[in-house]
Amino acid sequence: MPTHNPRPTLSVEEAQERILAAVRVLEPERVPLLDALDRVLAEPITADRDIPPLANSAMDGYAVQGADVATAPARLRVVGEIAAGYVSDVTVTPGAALRIMTGAPIPAGADTVVRFEDTELDGGWVTVQVPVRAGSDVRPAGEDVKAGQQTLAPGHVLRPQEIGMLAALGYTEVSVIRRPRVAILGTGDEVVPPEQEPGPGQIRDANSYTVAAQVLRHGGVPLMLGIARDREELVREGIRQAVAQRADLIITSGGVSVGDFDLVKQVLAAEGEMRFWSINMKPGRPLAFGVVKSPALEHAIPLIGLPGNPVSAMISTEQFARPALLKMQGFETWPWPSVRARLSEPVRRKDTRRHYLRVKVRETAKGLVADVTGDQGSGILNSLVLADGLAIISEDVSQLPAGAEVKVLLLT
Ligand code: AMP
Ligand code: MG
Repeated sequence: MPTHNPRPTLSVEEAQERILAAVRVLEPERVPLLDALDRVLAEPITADRDIPPLANSAMDGYAVQGADVATAPARLRVVGEIAAGYVSDVTVTPGAALRIMTGAPIPAGADTVVRFEDTELDGGWVTVQVPVRAGSDVRPAGEDVKAGQQTLAPGHVLRPQEIGMLAALGYTEVSVIRRPRVAILGTGDEVVPPEQEPGPGQIRDANSYTVAAQVLRHGGVPLMLGIARDREELVREGIRQAVAQRADLIITSGGVSVGDFDLVKQVLAAEGEMRFWSINMKPGRPLAFGVVKSPALEHAIPLIGLPGNPVSAMISTEQFARPALLKMQGFETWPWPSVRARLSEPVRRKDTRRHYLRVKVRETAKGLVADVTGDQGSGILNSLVLADGLAIISEDVSQLPAGAEVKVLLLT
C-alpha cells in the first residue's frame, strides 16, 4: 500500500533552489550558426580582423581634403567615383573630390566626406554649399570590432544580434551548451493518448503535451514516453525507458498526491532518491522531486513529479522545470517577465498559499487592468487558455479590493 510520506511545506523559492542545486550544466556541442539562437555560448569569440576592415564612407557623397571644405562655398574638381566593395587607386589631392558611396574605402589623400545633400554638381565640378568639419562621415577601420579583440565570452546568450556578429566574424558553426533531453511521462488509469477514443471515465492526456510544449519553449528536447497506468511496475517501466533514452530530466504528471494509486513517489524512492514536498502555492500543492540512479548512468537524472491537474501541472512546470532547463543550458538567470496591473474584481480567500490567479491583462486609459479568467479550479485548463498572465496573490494577503495593484507574470 502507498505510504503517506510526511510532506515538508516549502515556498516556491525554496523548492526552486533545491531543484536547481540538483541540476548540472550540460556539455557543449558545435552547431550550425542559426541553431545557436537563444542558446548559451560555450567558447570565447575573437575577431580575426578589423570590422570594418578599412576606413570607409558613412554616407553617399564626395571624398575630399578637409582643408578644402572648411569654408563654403567651395568648388572642387570631380576626379572619379568609388563604390562599396572596391578600393580606389585615385589619390585625392587639394582641390579634388572623388564621388564615394556608403561603405566604400576612403581613398588615399582624403580625410573627409561631404554628403551629396550638401553639394551641387555642375559638369566635372562640384560646389560644396556648407562648411564641413574635417573628418566628417569617415568611419575608421575597426570602429565596430578590432582584430584580436574578444567579442563574446562563454556564457553569452546568443540573440539575433550576436548571431549577426558571429556571421560578421566568419563563424558558420559555434559551440553552445547542448539542449536537455526531457522524458515526459503521464500517469493514470483514466488517461488515454489524444489519438484514442476515451472510454467511460477516461480523459485524454493534456499534460504530456502542455509540458512538452513548455519544454520546447524553454529550449529542451521532449521525449514522449506516453502514459503509465497506475501500477508500480508500469511507472517503473516508464522511468527505466527514460533512462534508456538518455534523458537529462524526467517530468511525470499525476500520481503524486496522497491517493491510493499515487505511485510515483514509491517508484522514485526505489529507483533513486525521492523527496516529496508540499509547495505553499495554489494551484499546485504537491510536488515530488528526486533523482533516478542507475549503475549505467554517469549522472543521476533529476525527476520532477508534477501534480495531475492540468493547471497545476503547467504552472508547476513553469515554476520548477523552467529554471532547471535553463540552468542545464548554461543560463545564469531566468527572469520571468511581469507587469503590474490592477485587479478588476476583489479577491477574498481563507488560504495562506501563494495564489496564481489566471488573468487576462488589458490596457485602459488608467493603465493595465487584470480580469480573472472565470473558474479558477486547478482542473480548468480553459482558465489558462483565456489567460495571458498569472496574478500573484501573496501568502500574507487574505483579501484585496477591486483596483488593487498586483504583479502579473506574463504567459507567452
Ligand atoms: P492525480 O494527481 O493523478 O491524482 O490527478 C489529478 C487530476 O488530474 C485527476 O483528475 C486526473 O484525472 C487529472 N490528470 C492526471 N493526469 C492528467 C493528464 N495527463 N492530462 C489531463 N488530466 C490529467
Ligand atoms: Mg492519477
